[in-house]
Amino acid sequence: GSREADRKVDSVCPYCGVGCQITYNIRDDKIAFVSGRDGPSNENRLCVKGRFGFDYVDSSQRLTRPLIRKEGVAKDGSIDFDPARPLDYFREASWEEALELAASGLTAVRDTHGPRALAGFGSAKCSNEEAYLFQKLVRTGFRSNNVDHCTRLCHASSVAALMEGIGTGAVTAPFMEAMNADVIVVIGANPTENHPVAATYFKQAVKQGAKLVVMDPRGMALKRHATWMMQFRPGGDVSMLNAMMHVIVEEGLYDTQYIQAHTEGFEQLRAHLAKFTPESMAEICGIDAATLREVARAYAGAQRAIIFWGMGVSQHVHGTDNARCLISLAMMCGQVGRPGTGLHPLRGQNNVQGASDAGLIPMVFPDYHGVGDAAYRGRLEGLWDIDLDPEPGLTVVEIVDAIHDGRVRGMYIMGENPAMSDPDARHARDALARLDHLVVQDIFLTETARYADVVLPASAWPEKNGTVTNTNRQVQMGRQALPLPGEARPDWWITQEIARRMGLGWNYAGPADVFAEMKQAMPSLDNITWQRLENEGSIMYPCPEPDHPGLGVVYGDGFPTASGRARLVPADIVPPAEQPDRDFPMILTTGRTLEHWHTGAMTRRASNLDALEPEAFCSLNSLDLRRLGLDAGAMVRVSTRRGAIELMARQDNAVPEGVVFIPFCFAEAAANVLTNPQLDPYGKIPEFKFCAARIEPQ
Ligand code: SF4
Repeated sequence: GSREADRKVDSVCPYCGVGCQITYNIRDDKIAFVSGRDGPSNENRLCVKGRFGFDYVDSSQRLTRPLIRKEGVAKDGSIDFDPARPLDYFREASWEEALELAASGLTAVRDTHGPRALAGFGSAKCSNEEAYLFQKLVRTGFRSNNVDHCTRLCHASSVAALMEGIGTGAVTAPFMEAMNADVIVVIGANPTENHPVAATYFKQAVKQGAKLVVMDPRGMALKRHATWMMQFRPGGDVSMLNAMMHVIVEEGLYDTQYIQAHTEGFEQLRAHLAKFTPESMAEICGIDAATLREVARAYAGAQRAIIFWGMGVSQHVHGTDNARCLISLAMMCGQVGRPGTGLHPLRGQNNVQGASDAGLIPMVFPDYHGVGDAAYRGRLEGLWDIDLDPEPGLTVVEIVDAIHDGRVRGMYIMGENPAMSDPDARHARDALARLDHLVVQDIFLTETARYADVVLPASAWPEKNGTVTNTNRQVQMGRQALPLPGEARPDWWITQEIARRMGLGWNYAGPADVFAEMKQAMPSLDNITWQRLENEGSIMYPCPEPDHPGLGVVYGDGFPTASGRARLVPADIVPPAEQPDRDFPMILTTGRTLEHWHTGAMTRRASNLDALEPEAFCSLNSLDLRRLGLDAGAMVRVSTRRGAIELMARQDNAVPEGVVFIPFCFAEAAANVLTNPQLDPYGKIPEFKFCAARIEPQ
């Protein structure tokens, strides 16, 4: 039939951290269709993105030749930019010329202004091997730790709290453990849109009798399956969670045995919680005292309870405090380390876990060893045969500020799109325009690539081999299904060519070679080999034996902290950095949609997905629409202290009155022009989930 394939190639979905296993069904070297495989985290299921969002690889806008900025074309954010017309701004070049220019420009900045004048953004959309090589280039070629990626915009605060609390940044249990839980808490996450296949497990668990608690300022689809929908006030999270813990302490519902055996700091936490009575917190968080008590009892009293969270927890100036509360809640009730229990920050991108593990983080080397840890640094110096910088590097938003004040002057960006994803995007774009030298490696001429001096055409996920690690700590094999278009090259190859031209004697034959070296730097990969991944497709770390599938639920008897105990850290109420006022009376919150992934670089060029969700929109409650004299579908102007965008207003009563929700995927109305770059002091994550805004009819 017309849908028959002439080849089938097994791989992993390129979008979210669920890590669904897929099969590319190939006809005439094109993807004819995608089918779900029986992977450990999807059991044949796929969402609309994984199933239908694949023809971005065939987009006429794919970059197929290296490009060099034309003489006299300004790096001007105000020019009318058309990503379909690259030759208006760039000229085509040979790989040799482009790589020479890319590397010599970076070397010149380093030699003139010092190692810390260079920085790199790697990508959670590339493979583990590519992430590892990228951070190695920054650390050994640029010679500083100025390397980061989108984890900074996503779960950096969760990781800060988890590292502090339990000595690791990864989940304590895979999301499938929801099926073994009696109570499932989902807070600050909208999994039916952002982790759709994970959400199917939550719904199935509810069908089997589990109780679901959904906590979020926005009502959402999962609400229909919830026993309790706690629509708390934006920014009311710490007060709500502290009030629940107050109840657990006051009513003696905590697990004394567990606390004594596995935690430290409970007495300080108990004293701290005394003032957070449900009655006094109800007003602040918007949840009545009776509900706070009821849900606290349900969680503490459950045999097995598991907590999932997303960006609604992490993307605040108090994001680390939010995660600290969740950790304390789980620990005081002993709800970790057993089937059906755990702490699970749902990872966004398909490889944000793996890219973080591989060391795309400015304060840690691979496997989260602090750059100041002399013993591990010495080991890495031996492996890489070079001295390493013991000082932490700058984070994503810090790098943007450092460009503005002249400290950072050159950058290499692989597969990230800070012109769309960074807060206060105008400020970020002005920074990109100021760089002396910018090398961008991507599959499209992104909003970021428009500021580049050199653009290097890279590979899409179905065009290369490599491993990725999903939200469950499952390392999975992605395989090349398609030829590379034109002169495009795999990302690992490009990074190696730049490294060679910066004087590093790299000679990796391919990803398997890189993986073998990673295993020497990363004990987390013990017992996981390239060969096993080729054969088995998916192995979870930690993996205790050479033929073991890996451990799902971990920390049944202690934590990888210095004392072996979990640390309970009290959190106070820190209000959002910018409050609504007379000029900007609404609260703006941003996020994703089911159809579009992050900055939209791929999904907006996937014809099926863009047909489903083609137009920039914001969501408003019907009461706000009425107050503004607007009909649903009208055009509005949304402004904040940082900028303004124009887009269509949709009616959505899941959004509370006084709040406007905007997805950040639409380049023509970029939500991040509006957002506040204020940072959480620990995770250095910006407050995407709260700032003051004004809406006006257009
Ligand atoms: Fe892909 Fe995530 Fe959808 Fe699975 S749930 S198909 S990994 S986007």
